Amino acid sequence: MIAPFAYTALPARVLFGPGRAAELGAELAALGGCRALVLSTAGQRGMAARVAAPLGDALGAHFDGAVMHTPVAVTERALAFLHDAACDAIVAIGGGSTIGLGKALALRTGLPQIAVPTTYAGSEVTPVLGQTEGGRKTTLRSLDVLPEVVIYDPELTLSLPPAISATSGLNALAHAVEALYARDANPITSLMAEEGIRALGAALPAVVADGSDHQARARAQYGAWLCATCLGAVGMALHHKICHALGGAFGLPHAETHAVLIPHVAGYNAGAAPDAMARVARALGGTDDAAAALWRLAGTLGAPRALRDIGMPEDGIGRAVALVLEGAYWNPRPPDAASLEALLRRAWAGAPPA
Ligand code: NAD
Repeated sequence: MIAPFAYTALPARVLFGPGRAAELGAELAALGGCRALVLSTAGQRGMAARVAAPLGDALGAHFDGAVMHTPVAVTERALAFLHDAACDAIVAIGGGSTIGLGKALALRTGLPQIAVPTTYAGSEVTPVLGQTEGGRKTTLRSLDVLPEVVIYDPELTLSLPPAISATSGLNALAHAVEALYARDANPITSLMAEEGIRALGAALPAVVADGSDHQARARAQYGAWLCATCLGAVGMALHHKICHALGGAFGLPHAETHAVLIPHVAGYNAGAAPDAMARVARALGGTDDAAAALWRLAGTLGAPRALRDIGMPEDGIGRAVALVLEGAYWNPRPPDAASLEALLRRAWAGAPPA
């Protein structure tokens, strides 16, 4: 029986395939852009300049100051840049940090955006923007920040180092795991979630073994797109709440935190969301349960498996429990202090999920 559901598709034009970044100029023109502000991190300046070079006169300026967590001070500098160069469109070339900056600028200017993602984080297809100011991270949801066009060119991911490929891929997978047991889960996002997990589960070991494997890179990016579409379509639960709390309170790195925690949260929710977990397990090969399969995958990828290895202080666990219990949010198994502490202790020590 199909239970009643609601599904809201988000507007976005998506181009997918090797070499498609070459269509940037045509897409910009179709959006009515004449002078693009190109965004990147400092480390990806060269790559972004190469991708944007064919824009010619339509390349208005290049701001290479994007950093993690979208600090408002950086957005303000980029905004001044945008105004000085009289740009009328935004082109973000990079991972979630660069795309976050593009979204922050779109929010303030209403200008159209093209995102050219080079990691698996997935921010380009969500209407969500996280920004930091004075050490506080706030998150907003608005269609105003959603890029109009996304160009997935797997060739731009060939240079993503194995360690970032692994953690960024597990970050994407976590979106789909939580989408399968979301309160507003529906058959459409669940299809995308399962297929996304299947694609990433198969592709990531090959990507980490050989970063120049074009087929695996394309399959991983396809999976990441599906998983991110789920993140944009339905509400997330305990896993994202814990990652947000740990990132904010202890400055833990975003993708690594997701990589460590997702097997533990899958184990925590297994009894309360058996159908969702069966789909995760099936997508990952069907020989283990979901938590064990996620744990094994993280091990195969050489991803971090302990919070202590990514900067979490052991005496911060109590504070983390309090932060995660703050505010009401949906999770298939309502969290309580004792079981959350047990989960975080295992994750801190690098023990397998319970
Ligand atoms: P990132 O964008 O910070 O990139 C990590 C590093 O890898 C950077 O130094 C970057 O320059 C480099 N890099 C990226 N692509 C590369 C490539 N192809 N080759 C070589 N180097 C490359 O990391 P991320 O994990 O993509 O994004 C994390 C940020 O995105 C966080 O701030 C997170 O909050 C945000 N995020 C937001 C959403 C959302 O929906 N709003 C979703 C996911 C992540």
